[in-house]
Amino acid sequence: MSKREITPSDSSAPPKRLRNSFPVPSAPRYEFEPLIAVEDNLRQYAKRTTNGTYKIDFSLREATLALTQAILKHHFKLVLFLPEGQLIPTIPNRVQYLTWAASLLPNDARKTHNTLLDIGTGPSCIYSMLGARLFPNWNIVATDADESAVQCARKNCNANELSNVKVLYTGASTDLLPKEVTEELPSLTVCNPPFHSSYPTCEVPAGTASQLMTEGGEYAFICRLAIESTSCLSVKWFTSLVGRKVDLPRIVSFLRSPRIRALYVKTAELAPGGRTVRWAVAWSFGEECSVVKLISNGMSKWRQIVSVRPGKKYGNQLETQDISDIFHLIFPQFGWVAKETDVLNSSAVTYFQGPVGSDFEESEIHIHVRELTDHEFEVHLKTERRGLMTYTEFQTLCTSIIENASSFLNES
Ligand code: SAH
Repeated sequence: MSKREITPSDSSAPPKRLRNSFPVPSAPRYEFEPLIAVEDNLRQYAKRTTNGTYKIDFSLREATLALTQAILKHHFKLVLFLPEGQLIPTIPNRVQYLTWAASLLPNDARKTHNTLLDIGTGPSCIYSMLGARLFPNWNIVATDADESAVQCARKNCNANELSNVKVLYTGASTDLLPKEVTEELPSLTVCNPPFHSSYPTCEVPAGTASQLMTEGGEYAFICRLAIESTSCLSVKWFTSLVGRKVDLPRIVSFLRSPRIRALYVKTAELAPGGRTVRWAVAWSFGEECSVVKLISNGMSKWRQIVSVRPGKKYGNQLETQDISDIFHLIFPQFGWVAKETDVLNSSAVTYFQGPVGSDFEESEIHIHVRELTDHEFEVHLKTERRGLMTYTEFQTLCTSIIENASSFLNES
Protein backbone atom coordinates (compact mmCIF):
# COMPACT_ATOMS: atom_id res chain seq x y z
CA MET A 1 0.00 0.00 0.00
CA SER A 2 1.47 3.33 -0.99
CA LYS A 3 1.52 6.02 1.64
CA ARG A 4 0.61 8.65 -0.95
CA GLU A 5 -2.77 7.06 -1.57
CA ILE A 6 -3.86 7.06 2.03
CA THR A 7 -2.90 10.08 4.03
CA PRO A 8 -4.25 11.02 7.42
CA SER A 9 -7.24 13.24 7.03
CA ASP A 10 -6.85 16.99 7.11
CA SER A 11 -8.44 18.00 10.38
CA SER A 12 -8.57 21.66 9.31
CA ALA A 13 -11.17 20.86 6.65
CA PRO A 14 -14.65 21.92 7.81
CA PRO A 15 -16.82 18.88 8.53
CA LYS A 16 -19.72 18.49 6.13
CA ARG A 17 -23.24 17.96 7.44
CA LEU A 18 -23.96 14.27 7.13
CA ARG A 19 -27.34 12.71 7.24
CA ASN A 20 -27.99 9.14 8.20
CA SER A 21 -28.46 7.32 4.93
CA PHE A 22 -30.18 4.38 6.58
CA PRO A 23 -32.45 4.34 9.64
CA VAL A 24 -30.41 4.12 12.82
CA PRO A 25 -31.91 2.18 15.74
CA SER A 26 -32.07 4.42 18.80
CA ALA A 27 -29.50 3.91 21.51
CA PRO A 28 -30.76 2.10 24.58
CA ARG A 29 -31.28 4.17 27.76
CA TYR A 30 -30.56 2.37 31.00
CA GLU A 31 -32.19 3.29 34.31
CA PHE A 32 -29.71 3.76 37.14
CA GLU A 33 -31.61 2.27 40.06
CA PRO A 34 -31.61 -1.35 38.85
CA LEU A 35 -27.95 -0.99 37.92
CA ILE A 36 -27.02 0.12 41.41
CA ALA A 37 -29.02 -2.79 42.75
CA VAL A 38 -26.91 -5.35 40.80
CA GLU A 39 -23.54 -3.60 41.09
CA ASP A 40 -23.09 -2.23 44.58
CA ASN A 41 -19.74 -0.78 43.55
CA LEU A 42 -21.59 1.70 41.32
CA ARG A 43 -23.42 3.29 44.27
CA GLN A 44 -20.40 5.31 45.46
CA TYR A 45 -20.03 6.98 42.02
CA ALA A 46 -23.70 7.65 41.29
CA LYS A 47 -24.67 11.19 42.26
CA ARG A 48 -28.32 12.11 42.46
CA THR A 49 -29.17 15.29 40.53
CA THR A 50 -31.79 17.86 41.54
CA ASN A 51 -34.34 16.40 39.11
CA GLY A 52 -34.05 12.99 40.73
CA THR A 53 -31.91 11.27 38.08
CA TYR A 54 -28.38 10.00 38.59
CA LYS A 55 -25.11 10.92 36.93
CA ILE A 56 -21.56 9.74 37.23
CA ASP A 57 -18.24 11.41 36.55
CA PHE A 58 -17.01 9.75 33.35
CA SER A 59 -13.50 11.10 33.87
CA LEU A 60 -13.18 8.59 36.74
CA ARG A 61 -12.08 5.29 35.27
CA GLU A 62 -13.48 3.24 38.16
CA ALA A 63 -16.88 4.91 37.80
CA THR A 64 -17.09 4.23 34.05
CA LEU A 65 -15.99 0.62 34.54
CA ALA A 66 -18.55 0.08 37.32
CA LEU A 67 -21.32 1.45 35.08
CA THR A 68 -20.29 -0.73 32.12
CA GLN A 69 -20.09 -3.82 34.31
CA ALA A 70 -23.48 -3.07 35.82
CA ILE A 71 -25.16 -2.64 32.42
CA LEU A 72 -23.58 -5.84 31.12
CA LYS A 73 -24.58 -7.76 34.22
CA HIS A 74 -28.14 -6.50 34.44
CA HIS A 75 -29.14 -6.23 30.79
CA PHE A 76 -26.98 -8.85 29.09
CA LYS A 77 -26.13 -11.34 31.85
CA LEU A 78 -22.44 -10.84 31.10
CA VAL A 79 -19.45 -10.46 33.38
CA LEU A 80 -16.50 -8.41 32.18
CA PHE A 81 -12.84 -8.70 33.21
CA LEU A 82 -10.67 -5.78 32.23
CA PRO A 83 -7.07 -5.35 33.34
CA GLU A 84 -5.84 -1.96 34.52
CA GLY A 85 -5.24 0.66 31.81
CA GLN A 86 -7.41 -0.99 29.13
CA LEU A 87 -10.08 0.79 27.10
CA ILE A 88 -13.40 0.66 28.92
CA PRO A 89 -16.21 -0.08 26.49
CA THR A 90 -19.20 2.21 26.93
CA ILE A 91 -22.30 0.21 26.12
CA PRO A 92 -25.15 2.37 24.71
CA ASN A 93 -23.21 3.55 21.63
CA ARG A 94 -21.81 0.07 21.01
CA VAL A 95 -25.27 -1.48 21.16
CA GLN A 96 -26.54 1.22 18.81
CA TYR A 97 -23.70 0.64 16.32
CA LEU A 98 -24.03 -3.14 16.46
CA THR A 99 -27.80 -3.12 15.94
CA TRP A 100 -27.43 -0.62 13.07
CA ALA A 101 -24.83 -2.87 11.41
CA ALA A 102 -27.08 -5.93 11.82
CA SER A 103 -30.06 -4.02 10.44
CA LEU A 104 -28.23 -3.64 7.12
CA LEU A 105 -28.71 -7.35 6.47
CA PRO A 106 -32.03 -8.22 4.86
CA ASN A 107 -34.73 -9.03 7.40
CA ASP A 108 -34.87 -12.75 6.69
CA ALA A 109 -31.07 -13.07 6.56
CA ARG A 110 -30.76 -11.39 9.95
CA LYS A 111 -32.94 -14.00 11.60
CA THR A 112 -31.12 -16.97 10.13
CA HIS A 113 -27.55 -18.02 10.55
CA ASN A 114 -24.83 -15.39 10.07
CA THR A 115 -21.21 -15.06 11.00
CA LEU A 116 -20.28 -11.73 12.57
CA LEU A 117 -16.64 -10.68 12.36
CA ASP A 118 -15.46 -8.35 15.14
CA ILE A 119 -12.17 -6.85 13.91
CA GLY A 120 -9.91 -5.63 16.74
CA THR A 121 -12.04 -7.05 19.54
CA GLY A 122 -9.79 -5.79 22.34
CA PRO A 123 -9.53 -7.41 25.81
CA SER A 124 -13.20 -6.69 26.52
CA CYS A 125 -14.30 -8.69 23.45
CA ILE A 126 -17.24 -6.35 23.67
CA TYR A 127 -18.93 -6.49 20.25
CA SER A 128 -18.63 -10.26 20.21
CA MET A 129 -20.11 -10.62 23.69
CA LEU A 130 -22.98 -8.25 22.91
CA GLY A 131 -23.45 -9.98 19.55
CA ALA A 132 -23.64 -13.37 21.26
CA ARG A 133 -26.51 -12.09 23.40
CA LEU A 134 -28.33 -10.07 20.75
CA PHE A 135 -28.04 -12.69 17.98
CA PRO A 136 -27.85 -16.01 19.80
CA ASN A 137 -28.04 -18.15 16.66
CA TRP A 138 -25.13 -16.40 14.91
CA ASN A 139 -21.51 -17.48 14.92
CA ILE A 140 -19.03 -14.84 15.95
CA VAL A 141 -15.37 -14.51 15.08
CA ALA A 142 -13.31 -11.96 16.98
CA THR A 143 -9.77 -10.94 15.98
CA ASP A 144 -6.99 -8.93 17.50
CA ALA A 145 -3.36 -8.30 16.66
CA ASP A 146 -2.45 -7.91 20.32
CA GLU A 147 -1.75 -11.20 22.07
CA SER A 148 -2.64 -10.04 25.57
CA ALA A 149 -5.94 -8.63 24.26
CA VAL A 150 -6.72 -12.02 22.71
CA GLN A 151 -5.98 -13.83 25.97
CA CYS A 152 -8.24 -11.54 27.95
CA ALA A 153 -10.97 -11.72 25.27
CA ARG A 154 -10.90 -15.53 25.53
CA LYS A 155 -11.09 -15.29 29.31
CA ASN A 156 -14.20 -13.12 28.99
CA CYS A 157 -15.83 -15.57 26.54
CA ASN A 158 -15.05 -18.53 28.80
CA ALA A 159 -16.39 -16.78 31.88
CA ASN A 160 -19.66 -16.18 30.06
CA GLU A 161 -19.72 -19.62 28.44
CA LEU A 162 -19.98 -18.14 24.96
CA SER A 163 -19.32 -21.20 22.87
CA ASN A 164 -20.35 -19.51 19.62
CA VAL A 165 -17.52 -16.95 19.83
CA LYS A 166 -14.10 -17.81 18.40
CA VAL A 167 -11.23 -15.43 19.19
CA LEU A 168 -8.36 -15.44 16.68
CA TYR A 169 -4.93 -13.93 17.21
CA THR A 170 -3.98 -12.28 13.92
CA GLY A 171 -0.81 -10.55 15.05
CA ALA A 172 1.32 -12.80 12.86
CA SER A 173 -0.13 -11.00 9.85
CA THR A 174 -0.46 -7.28 9.32
CA ASP A 175 -3.65 -7.89 7.34
CA LEU A 176 -7.01 -7.03 8.83
CA LEU A 177 -8.66 -9.83 6.89
CA PRO A 178 -6.05 -12.61 6.76
CA LYS A 179 -6.88 -15.98 5.21
CA GLU A 180 -7.73 -17.72 8.50
CA VAL A 181 -10.34 -15.04 9.09
CA THR A 182 -11.91 -14.98 5.60
CA GLU A 183 -12.12 -18.78 5.74
CA GLU A 184 -14.69 -18.36 8.50
CA LEU A 185 -16.98 -16.87 5.81
CA PRO A 186 -18.21 -13.85 7.74
CA SER A 187 -21.32 -12.12 6.40
CA LEU A 188 -21.09 -8.92 8.47
CA THR A 189 -18.11 -7.11 9.97
CA VAL A 190 -17.86 -4.59 12.80
CA CYS A 191 -14.77 -2.69 13.88
CA ASN A 192 -13.81 0.03 16.34
CA PRO A 193 -10.44 1.07 14.93
CA PRO A 194 -7.70 2.83 16.86
CA PHE A 195 -8.62 6.47 16.17
CA HIS A 196 -5.40 8.40 16.60
CA SER A 197 -2.17 8.65 14.62
CA SER A 198 -0.14 9.40 17.77
CA TYR A 199 -0.55 8.48 21.43
CA PRO A 200 -2.83 11.02 23.16
CA THR A 201 -0.93 13.37 25.47
CA CYS A 202 -3.72 13.69 28.06
CA GLU A 203 -2.90 12.69 31.64
CA VAL A 204 -4.85 9.45 31.69
CA PRO A 205 -5.23 8.06 28.14
CA ALA A 206 -8.39 6.01 27.69
CA GLY A 207 -6.53 2.85 26.70
CA THR A 208 -3.26 1.28 25.62
CA ALA A 209 -1.20 2.37 22.59
CA SER A 210 -2.54 -0.45 20.37
CA GLN A 211 -6.12 0.47 21.26
CA LEU A 212 -5.80 4.18 20.60
CA MET A 213 -3.14 4.53 17.95
CA THR A 214 -2.46 3.34 14.42
CA GLU A 215 -0.24 4.74 11.68
CA GLY A 216 -2.26 7.32 9.76
CA GLY A 217 -5.11 7.20 12.30
CA GLU A 218 -8.55 5.72 11.73
CA TYR A 219 -8.74 7.06 8.16
CA ALA A 220 -5.75 4.98 7.07
CA PHE A 221 -6.99 1.97 9.06
CA ILE A 222 -10.45 2.00 7.45
CA CYS A 223 -8.95 2.55 3.99
CA ARG A 224 -6.76 -0.53 4.56
CA LEU A 225 -9.86 -2.47 5.55
CA ALA A 226 -11.65 -1.18 2.43
CA ILE A 227 -8.80 -2.34 0.16
CA GLU A 228 -8.78 -5.79 1.74
CA SER A 229 -12.58 -5.91 1.62
CA THR A 230 -12.57 -6.03 -2.20
CA SER A 231 -11.33 -9.60 -2.06
CA CYS A 232 -13.23 -10.83 1.01
CA LEU A 233 -16.07 -12.48 -0.79
CA SER A 234 -18.49 -13.79 1.80
CA VAL A 235 -19.16 -10.43 3.49
CA LYS A 236 -22.42 -8.74 2.59
CA TRP A 237 -21.74 -5.60 4.64
CA PHE A 238 -18.46 -4.23 5.99
CA THR A 239 -18.82 -1.61 8.71
CA SER A 240 -16.64 0.50 10.94
CA LEU A 241 -17.06 2.98 13.71
CA VAL A 242 -15.63 6.43 12.95
CA GLY A 243 -14.38 8.55 15.85
CA ARG A 244 -13.82 11.87 14.11
CA LYS A 245 -16.48 13.52 12.00
CA VAL A 246 -13.89 15.05 9.66
CA ASP A 247 -12.78 11.58 8.60
CA LEU A 248 -16.22 10.45 7.48
CA PRO A 249 -16.54 12.29 4.12
CA ARG A 250 -13.02 11.27 3.14
CA ILE A 251 -13.72 7.64 3.98
CA VAL A 252 -16.94 7.75 1.96
CA SER A 253 -15.05 9.26 -1.03
CA PHE A 254 -12.42 6.55 -0.81
CA LEU A 255 -15.08 3.83 -0.73
CA ARG A 256 -16.68 5.31 -3.85
CA SER A 257 -13.37 5.85 -5.66
CA PRO A 258 -12.30 3.53 -8.53
CA ARG A 259 -9.88 1.88 -6.13
CA ILE A 260 -12.74 0.33 -4.13
CA ARG A 261 -15.91 1.00 -6.12
CA ALA A 262 -18.27 -0.02 -3.33
CA LEU A 263 -21.77 -0.34 -4.69
CA TYR A 264 -23.53 0.92 -1.56
CA VAL A 265 -22.12 3.21 1.12
CA LYS A 266 -24.12 4.16 4.21
CA THR A 267 -23.32 6.35 7.17
CA ALA A 268 -24.84 6.81 10.62
CA GLU A 269 -24.63 9.31 13.45
CA LEU A 270 -24.61 7.56 16.79
CA ALA A 271 -26.10 9.72 19.47
CA PRO A 272 -26.65 7.87 22.75
CA GLY A 273 -28.23 10.21 25.26
CA GLY A 274 -29.10 12.63 22.45
CA ARG A 275 -25.48 13.77 21.95
CA THR A 276 -23.59 12.68 18.82
CA VAL A 277 -20.42 11.04 19.96
CA ARG A 278 -19.49 8.70 17.13
CA TRP A 279 -20.25 7.95 13.50
CA ALA A 280 -20.33 4.73 11.58
CA VAL A 281 -19.81 3.78 7.95
CA ALA A 282 -20.92 0.69 6.04
CA TRP A 283 -20.20 -0.50 2.52
CA SER A 284 -21.25 -3.37 0.33
CA PHE A 285 -20.35 -4.68 -3.10
CA GLY A 286 -23.81 -6.08 -3.64
CA GLU A 287 -24.05 -8.80 -6.17
CA GLU A 288 -22.02 -7.88 -9.22
CA CYS A 289 -23.79 -8.14 -12.47
CA SER A 290 -22.86 -6.57 -15.75
CA VAL A 291 -25.73 -5.91 -18.08
CA VAL A 292 -25.40 -5.64 -21.83
CA LYS A 293 -28.53 -4.45 -23.53
CA LEU A 294 -28.63 -5.33 -27.20
CA ILE A 295 -31.01 -3.49 -29.43
CA SER A 296 -31.56 -4.37 -33.04
CA ASN A 297 -32.92 -1.88 -35.55
CA GLY A 298 -34.82 -4.76 -37.06
CA MET A 299 -32.20 -5.21 -39.76
CA SER A 300 -28.59 -6.20 -39.31
CA LYS A 301 -27.34 -3.39 -37.06
CA TRP A 302 -27.29 -3.64 -33.30
CA ARG A 303 -26.30 -1.14 -30.75
CA GLN A 304 -25.69 -1.84 -27.12
CA ILE A 305 -26.18 -0.11 -23.85
CA VAL A 306 -23.92 -1.30 -21.10
CA SER A 307 -24.45 -0.66 -17.45
CA VAL A 308 -23.25 -2.24 -14.26
CA ARG A 309 -25.85 -2.69 -11.58
CA PRO A 310 -26.63 -4.99 -8.70
CA GLY A 311 -27.77 -8.44 -9.61
CA LYS A 312 -31.42 -9.30 -9.73
CA LYS A 313 -33.25 -12.39 -10.74
CA TYR A 314 -35.08 -11.81 -13.97
CA GLY A 315 -38.07 -13.66 -15.24
CA ASN A 316 -37.27 -15.17 -18.57
CA GLN A 317 -39.57 -15.87 -21.43
CA LEU A 318 -36.98 -17.67 -23.52
CA GLU A 319 -36.49 -21.38 -23.86
CA THR A 320 -33.20 -22.66 -22.51
CA GLN A 321 -31.98 -23.55 -25.98
CA ASP A 322 -32.69 -19.98 -27.13
CA ILE A 323 -30.38 -18.63 -24.49
CA SER A 324 -27.52 -20.76 -25.63
CA ASP A 325 -28.22 -19.92 -29.27
CA ILE A 326 -28.43 -16.21 -28.66
CA PHE A 327 -25.28 -16.23 -26.63
CA HIS A 328 -23.35 -18.06 -29.33
CA LEU A 329 -24.78 -15.80 -31.97
CA ILE A 330 -23.73 -12.68 -30.14
CA PHE A 331 -20.40 -13.84 -28.82
CA PRO A 332 -19.16 -16.38 -31.36
CA GLN A 333 -15.52 -15.56 -30.72
CA PHE A 334 -15.74 -16.92 -27.23
CA GLY A 335 -14.95 -20.55 -26.67
CA TRP A 336 -17.43 -20.81 -23.85
CA VAL A 337 -18.73 -24.23 -23.09
CA ALA A 338 -22.28 -24.39 -21.83
CA LYS A 339 -22.15 -26.74 -18.87
CA GLU A 340 -25.80 -26.95 -18.06
CA THR A 341 -28.92 -24.89 -18.26
CA ASP A 342 -31.47 -24.58 -15.54
CA VAL A 343 -34.89 -23.16 -15.59
CA LEU A 344 -35.74 -21.99 -12.14
CA ASN A 345 -38.72 -19.90 -11.17
CA SER A 346 -39.21 -18.84 -14.75
CA SER A 347 -35.66 -17.48 -14.88
CA ALA A 348 -33.40 -19.35 -17.26
CA VAL A 349 -29.74 -19.37 -16.37
CA THR A 350 -27.00 -20.87 -18.47
CA TYR A 351 -23.74 -21.78 -16.85
CA PHE A 352 -20.72 -21.27 -19.06
CA GLN A 353 -17.21 -22.32 -18.37
CA GLY A 354 -14.34 -20.04 -19.39
CA PRO A 355 -12.27 -20.81 -22.53
CA VAL A 356 -9.62 -23.47 -21.91
CA GLY A 357 -6.23 -21.88 -21.27
CA SER A 358 -7.74 -18.44 -20.56
CA ASP A 359 -7.55 -16.67 -17.23
CA PHE A 360 -11.16 -17.57 -16.73
CA GLU A 361 -10.91 -21.28 -17.39
CA GLU A 362 -11.96 -22.12 -13.86
CA SER A 363 -14.68 -19.51 -13.77
CA GLU A 364 -18.32 -20.12 -14.09
CA ILE A 365 -20.40 -17.34 -15.53
CA HIS A 366 -24.14 -17.28 -15.39
CA ILE A 367 -25.78 -15.77 -18.40
CA HIS A 368 -29.34 -14.57 -18.15
CA VAL A 369 -30.85 -13.43 -21.40
CA ARG A 370 -34.08 -11.54 -21.30
CA GLU A 371 -36.03 -10.67 -24.37
CA LEU A 372 -37.34 -7.14 -24.04
CA THR A 373 -39.10 -6.85 -27.38
CA ASP A 374 -38.71 -8.61 -30.70
CA HIS A 375 -35.47 -6.77 -31.26
CA GLU A 376 -34.17 -6.16 -27.79
CA PHE A 377 -32.36 -8.43 -25.42
CA GLU A 378 -30.70 -7.81 -22.14
CA VAL A 379 -27.77 -10.07 -21.40
CA HIS A 380 -26.83 -10.32 -17.74
CA LEU A 381 -23.41 -11.69 -16.89
CA LYS A 382 -22.89 -12.72 -13.35
CA THR A 383 -20.49 -14.82 -11.33
CA GLU A 384 -22.54 -16.63 -8.76
CA ARG A 385 -19.71 -16.92 -6.30
CA ARG A 386 -17.34 -14.01 -6.00
CA GLY A 387 -14.74 -16.50 -4.84
CA LEU A 388 -14.07 -17.66 -8.34
CA MET A 389 -12.94 -14.27 -9.55
CA THR A 390 -12.03 -11.05 -7.91
CA TYR A 391 -14.25 -8.08 -8.57
CA THR A 392 -11.54 -6.57 -10.83
CA GLU A 393 -11.20 -9.79 -12.82
CA PHE A 394 -14.92 -9.91 -13.30
CA GLN A 395 -14.97 -6.35 -14.55
CA THR A 396 -12.09 -7.13 -16.94
CA LEU A 397 -14.02 -10.08 -18.25
CA CYS A 398 -17.15 -8.03 -18.77
CA THR A 399 -15.19 -5.29 -20.52
CA SER A 400 -13.56 -7.78 -22.86
CA ILE A 401 -16.91 -9.40 -23.66
CA ILE A 402 -18.44 -6.01 -24.28
CA GLU A 403 -15.58 -4.97 -26.58
CA ASN A 404 -15.84 -8.18 -28.54
CA ALA A 405 -19.57 -7.86 -28.76
CA SER A 406 -19.22 -4.28 -29.86
CA SER A 407 -16.95 -5.07 -32.80
CA PHE A 408 -19.11 -8.05 -33.77
CA LEU A 409 -22.37 -6.18 -33.52
CA ASN A 410 -21.17 -3.23 -35.52
CA GLU A 411 -19.74 -5.26 -38.39
CA SER A 412 -21.47 -4.23 -41.57
N1 SAH B 1 -13.38 -3.48 19.99
C1 SAH B 1 -12.89 -2.97 21.24
C2 SAH B 1 -11.43 -2.51 21.16
C3 SAH B 1 -11.17 -1.40 20.18
S1 SAH B 1 -9.51 -0.77 20.28
C4 SAH B 1 -13.81 -1.85 21.72
O1 SAH B 1 -14.64 -1.36 20.97
O2 SAH B 1 -13.67 -1.44 22.87
C5 SAH B 1 -8.83 -1.29 18.73
C6 SAH B 1 -8.33 -2.72 18.74
O3 SAH B 1 -7.86 -3.00 17.43
C7 SAH B 1 -7.15 -2.96 19.68
O4 SAH B 1 -7.44 -4.03 20.55
C8 SAH B 1 -5.98 -3.32 18.75
O5 SAH B 1 -5.08 -4.26 19.31
C9 SAH B 1 -6.74 -3.87 17.56
N2 SAH B 1 -5.98 -3.84 16.31
C10 SAH B 1 -5.12 -2.92 15.85
N3 SAH B 1 -4.59 -3.30 14.67
C11 SAH B 1 -5.16 -4.50 14.37
C12 SAH B 1 -5.02 -5.41 13.29
N4 SAH B 1 -4.21 -5.17 12.26
N5 SAH B 1 -5.74 -6.56 13.32
C13 SAH B 1 -6.58 -6.82 14.35
N6 SAH B 1 -6.74 -6.00 15.40
C14 SAH B 1 -6.04 -4.84 15.41
